[in-house]
Order: sequence, then C-alpha cells, then structure tokens
Amino acid sequence: MTAKHTTADLAVGDSPTELARIPLYAPSVGDAELRNLADCLAKADLIHGPWVGAFERRIAGYVGCAHAVGTNSGTSALHTALLIAGVRADEEVLITTMTFIAPANAIRYVGAHPVFIDVEPVTWQMDPARVREFLTHECYRDQGITINRLSGRTVSAIVAVHYLGMPVDMAPIQALADDYRLVLIEDAAQALGTLYRGRRVGSIGRLGCFSFHGNKLITAGGGGMIVTDDPALAARARYLINQAKDDPVETAHKTVGYNYRMTNLHGAIGCAQFDRIATHIDAKRRIAQRYAAAFEGVPGLSLVPEAPGAHYTCWLSTMLVDAQRFGLDARQLMAALATQGIESLPLYEPLHRSVAHVGAQVVGGARAERIATCALSLPSSVGLSDADQERVVQAVLAAHRAAM
Ligand SMILES: *Cc1c(COP(=O)(O)O)cnc(C)c1O
Repeated sequence: MTAKHTTADLAVGDSPTELARIPLYAPSVGDAELRNLADCLAKADLIHGPWVGAFERRIAGYVGCAHAVGTNSGTSALHTALLIAGVRADEEVLITTMTFIAPANAIRYVGAHPVFIDVEPVTWQMDPARVREFLTHECYRDQGITINRLSGRTVSAIVAVHYLGMPVDMAPIQALADDYRLVLIEDAAQALGTLYRGRRVGSIGRLGCFSFHGNKLITAGGGGMIVTDDPALAARARYLINQAKDDPVETAHKTVGYNYRMTNLHGAIGCAQFDRIATHIDAKRRIAQRYAAAFEGVPGLSLVPEAPGAHYTCWLSTMLVDAQRFGLDARQLMAALATQGIESLPLYEPLHRSVAHVGAQVVGGARAERIATCALSLPSSVGLSDADQERVVQAVLAAHRAAM
C-alpha cells in the first residue's frame, strides 16, 4: 500500500496517451491503518473496543477540549449536538447559507428551522454583521428569549460552519450568542486543525463537531466526533448515541436514543490517520500555496486569502473565476479540465436556493450566490504529487490561452 496516488497508480487502459484521472480529494492511507485494522480483526473487536476511546482522547487533546465522543458520521454528531444543546422543534437556528447541506439537515432532524445568513466577502464565512443585523432588527426579546418577528419562533442557537477549512470570525459571533442567549455550536468538519486567534476551531463554542468522511483532512472511513468542555453534555451525548441505554444489563430505556456510535474499526483507522495530521496539513497548505503562486498574474483567477489571525488547513483549494477576464466561466473551466481527466467542482449551491430547504428565511444571500457562480475547487488530495499538480496548473493555463 502506498500513501500517495500518483499518475502511475491510477493509470487506466492500455493507451499511453490516456491520462490518469486526478481526483478532487482522495484519502491517503498507509500501513498504519492496516496494522490497526488487523488488531481489531485479530481480537474480533469490530464494534466495541479500545480504538474509539483512543481516537477520542487524541482529538480532544488536539483541539483542546476536555471531552470527545465518537459518532458514526459528522451528520449524526451534529444531530446529537443540537439535541443535547436543547434545540427543540419549531425553534430557529442561524447558519451560513454557504455550506454542505448536512448541518442544515441536522437542524431539520430536530424539527427546528434554519435561518440562512449570507457570507462575508473575504473568506466566505457566515457574516457576523448579518447575524447582528438579523438579531437586532428582525428579532425582539421576551423574558430573555429571542423571538423572530417574521415567524414568531424562538431563535435558540447558531451553528458556525468553518467552511473550506477557514475559520468563521468567532469573536463577534460568540458575543452575539452570549448577548442573545443562543447556544453556539461549531461545525468544524472541514476545518480540523484550523486555528482562530490561537485556538483550534471546534473548541470555541459550547459544542464542536467533526467528520471523518473519506474526503476530510483525516478520515476514519466515515465517522464523526462531538467535542465539549462540559462533562454533562459529553455524558448526555454518549448516552443518546448508544440507544439511550440506562443500564448495562437490563434493557431499560427512559428516552428515544440513536445508534450513532463510532465502531472500533473506524477508531482504528482514525488513530492511524491522526498520527499523520501535521503531514496532511502541510501537504494541503503546500498545494494551496503552489496554486496561488502558479495563478498569480493570471487574469481573472484568485484563490481565497488566509484570514488575518488564522492558520488555515486549506482543506480544499478553491478559486474565483472571473469569466470576463479569464475567458471561461467556472463551469466551462470545469468542463475543460474534465477533458484532461482532472476533477474540479463548483461550490455547493447556497442553501437558501436548495429545494430541500425551500421556504426558509434568508438574511442577504446575493453574495453567496455570486461566489457560488464563480468558485471552482481544484484537486487537493494530501497525496497529490508535484507532477500531477503541475498537470492541473498547465491545464488551467492552456484553457485560458485557448479561450483568449
Ligand atoms: C462532511 C461534512 C459534514 C458531514 O459529515 P459526514 O461525516 O459526511 O456526515 C458536515 N458538515 C460539513 C461542513 C461537512 O463538510
């Protein structure tokens, strides 16, 4: 097994001219994963076993939280976090409109409603100014509770999604959450390792959530985690994800729980991956820097800059394509790259445009729509070789030349 995907590894067909596909983000796995998995299999510890606790302790220590609870996905971590944060049906939760849909869906799982917030222009994260505008102008307070004038519903939480590995500007959001008595939950699925003012994201709000899906910075082959400093919340999370089992022997249940636990197999892979986390971050940052250097001076291309005070993990290198100046729009460039076997993807559709969340309130939204039209993510696998990245760069430059 190799830790890198090279052109040679992925070569398909017999034709020497047929180019190997360069994926957007492929996991990087090695012998350590195999050894840890062999340990699970040798002991037949597939579900319960020591690797989950070991992985939880590593993540808790790394992000700087007292407790971590492993789950079977990032989405189930978010669902559980909302439940234990006390978000109830018919309440409202503020969330960026620009994110993968999972955290918005989790809000709906508890019967609550997302209110979508537009992004700030520099790093495309939830705009604290829009959050303030909504809370001060569109809500009123009744006995300490924040109520949305338009819907009449209680606003009870904010989910801060650190999008593309960059941090949300947490200080003003935390201040607003405190002022309006909203629970602050972080979705750091794309931002494990990212620092905001010297703190790892996920450790700033009441609860933080991570994902170990195959496309994340480190993967466990699936799985997620909830982190918190609050021992009662951690205990409640562990209880709910284990079918709300009240007694180790008797099957007595006082509430409806979930089968959301992380398996020992996932924990074993996660531990092996975790040991290489610094290498993965270095690789991602190097990839982003190389793209930035290669495209500097190319008319109409710009990569997202690093926010002041942040150290970001560059989970996915994404650039804005100005069609007028570059000669192709983002989707035309995507098609041109595809002919060269290079995978690139536009950003997610802003959620206030999603049919799945039709009718949800949005605060602003035009900025997210503009970014979603122009943004294109480029291959960013930890194992992307220099030669393969050079192929991506040359394909982008060739598309530009051909279009001008
Ligand atoms: C990947 C991701 C999730 C969901 O994680 P899963 O493990 O796939 O359920 C949630 N939020 C964001 C921002 C993500 O990128």
